[in-house]
Amino acid sequence: MNYLKLLSIKLLLLLPFIGFSQNLEKIVKENIGKRTDTLVQFKIDSPYNYMPVTIISGKEKGPVFTIIAGIHGFEYPPITAVQELIKEIDPKKLKGTLVVVPIANVASFYKRTLFVNPLDGKNLNNAFPGSASGTITEQIANYITKEIIPLSDVFLDIHAGDANEDLLPFICYYNNTLEEKKTLLSSKLSEISGINHIVSYPYTITKTEPAKYAFKQASQNGKTALSIEAGKLGNVQTESVHLIKKAVYNMLNYMEMYNKGAAPVKNPSAVYLNNQEYVKADFNGIFHSTLKSGDYIQKGDKIGFISNEFGKVLSEIKFPANGVILYKIGTPPVNKNETVFCIGYSN
Ligand SMILES: [Zn+2]
Repeated sequence: MNYLKLLSIKLLLLLPFIGFSQNLEKIVKENIGKRTDTLVQFKIDSPYNYMPVTIISGKEKGPVFTIIAGIHGFEYPPITAVQELIKEIDPKKLKGTLVVVPIANVASFYKRTLFVNPLDGKNLNNAFPGSASGTITEQIANYITKEIIPLSDVFLDIHAGDANEDLLPFICYYNNTLEEKKTLLSSKLSEISGINHIVSYPYTITKTEPAKYAFKQASQNGKTALSIEAGKLGNVQTESVHLIKKAVYNMLNYMEMYNKGAAPVKNPSAVYLNNQEYVKADFNGIFHSTLKSGDYIQKGDKIGFISNEFGKVLSEIKFPANGVILYKIGTPPVNKNETVFCIGYSN
């Protein structure tokens, strides 16, 4: 029996619990006070042609808060945190609606690929707004853009360092001055999230330029949009799972959608950053650095080097700016033009 057949039988067995539906708005309206799990299907001949979506439709009317995990399938702490959140949240105590995508890129998850969907080699977080008639990655991006973002009042995309990345947890949003109120809410939600490093990016794209990133697409579409980064190196760090969950509960509490624990307060020790600088590799080779995410460095500091397969140094890496390492490559292989360091700073 081939895998495709096996999968369809399994899905049939699950049918009483999992429906197939593309119309999320209808699910929200028809299932007040309930949680509904559904599979969105794409026009691709593959066992990985679907995306799971969970709708938790609260008893009382209120905002729609969207949470996406697994845009990169090798970033596990967000996926684990979301699994726990959808089990814990009681629809009867929820005001408004949660739209949760537990794993946006199932092919990347099951095939354990860094950044890209193995079916088309494309990075979902570079594919927005996507296309209904495109490859699997373009279809997923299109569905999120056309069906999920328009429903959302708040759009939260959660990532971690990928399997090769050492990363400092941070929360970020675009300083979209065209949408002042929405951006102000993004900044307030960041401040009470409990995540220590807060990055606001300059927003420079026009209304029609491709946004590329999921939460930039939501920001371009006039939504309150944020992204959390927590976890690293292909592991499920318990503290990152807790940090993500705490941030989500704090935000839901601030939005008066769900009360779990005390009202969240602004973090007095938060570090505010408003720009990033990337250091790219100039050779293929072996990356050496004793620095870690979260280390502070000065402009001009030597921060690592790249050697060839025989140990010969090909390139010394110097820091281009004063700042904190938000993430860096945390494993030896490096390819020309890859980002080896991302430094956050404030100006
Ligand atoms: Zn990611």
